[in-house]
Amino acid sequence: MKSFGYAAQSKTSPLTPFHFDRREPGPTDVVVAIDYCGICHSDIHQARDEWGGSIYPMVPGHEIVGRVTAVGSDVKKFKVGDLAGVGVTVQTCMACDNCKSGNEPYCTKGMVGTYNAKDYDGNPTYGGYADNIVAPEHYVHSISPKLNLAAVAPLLCAGITTWSPLKHWNVGPNKKVGIVGLGGLGHMGLKFAHSLGAYTVQFTTSESKTNDALKLGANEVVISKDPENMAKHTGSFDFILDCVSAPHDINAYLNLLKLDGTLCLVGLPEQPMLTSPFALITNRRSFSGSMIGGMKETQEMLDYCAAKNIVSDIELISYAQLPEAYERVLKSDVKYRFVLDGKTLTA
Ligand code: NAP
Ligand code: ZN
Repeated sequence: MKSFGYAAQSKTSPLTPFHFDRREPGPTDVVVAIDYCGICHSDIHQARDEWGGSIYPMVPGHEIVGRVTAVGSDVKKFKVGDLAGVGVTVQTCMACDNCKSGNEPYCTKGMVGTYNAKDYDGNPTYGGYADNIVAPEHYVHSISPKLNLAAVAPLLCAGITTWSPLKHWNVGPNKKVGIVGLGGLGHMGLKFAHSLGAYTVQFTTSESKTNDALKLGANEVVISKDPENMAKHTGSFDFILDCVSAPHDINAYLNLLKLDGTLCLVGLPEQPMLTSPFALITNRRSFSGSMIGGMKETQEMLDYCAAKNIVSDIELISYAQLPEAYERVLKSDVKYRFVLDGKTLTA
């Protein structure tokens, strides 16, 4: 299947127009014409090979929404014209215990990412900075027409990546929850923690984001560069979700957890981060991590968003603005997710 999009040819090259082929859709596949694609910080990490092992040419993008243009003969959930979304995962073994329990990102054979991966036949996968995508029905999600479609796109990664750990650690009423970093993931974590009924504290290095954080649902905002402000919260949190993209002192957050509290990392800085054994044994604290979310819980999150009218706060941009958008993400200067407008993609 012919596709057109934007690709990085190497870790130092800017993203440029790129014609490529996707596999022809099979009986279980859905073809989606892409209307919008969010820009995740992971796109930048991978385009610039910050995690190592990047595969080029790379078409990034795993926050994909659009309309179904074709379905294979065995497809049951979708028909042509339906709204649909594709996130971070496009193939898993479906046979291991983790897949069978709805934990596809933890597939023991290895989950195949929407881009910068090879599928089980060895073919490279290409993401959503493009005009179309083909994916098996199992990894395609139904989207409610009630919501602004462009603002739904970031739910496919930033949404599910924050929703999954908040649900896993039972965030809700009578829980004090911290969200670290007010970016794409962080602002969705903040909206969800607030909506689920938790007392929510936003940590940020950007004082200028304070009013936004309060509007997005924070009960309190803490400027994390101020040790006195941080110390006021020592030993008080049930759960903290760390959404920061760069190396930082995680012990400062471990110290804020109460007895049996958990700090969960979803941010993926390229360097290891050291934990203090004393910060961990005090209050029997747990330090954990979480990766996107399963297919069933992704649909549950999308349905919850439709019911509660929750979407991402976005800046809709053209493909010509891609280089500027990457630079602004690196400066933590986005409110709060860039979304590429498919109408501006011209061959
Ligand atoms: P983003 O929009 O760039 O947000 C990151 C935020 O981190 C910034 O807005 C900033 O918040 C804070 N920050 C940045 N540099 C910092 C520094 N040096 N010290 C302290 N805070 C800093 O990125 P994103 O798209 O939300 O992604 C966040 C991270 O999650 C990335 O590493 C990404 O790869 C990862 N990720 C993981 C998963 C997963 O499955 N676990 C899925 C998607 C993304 P303030 O201005 O508020 O301080
Ligand atoms: Zn992402």
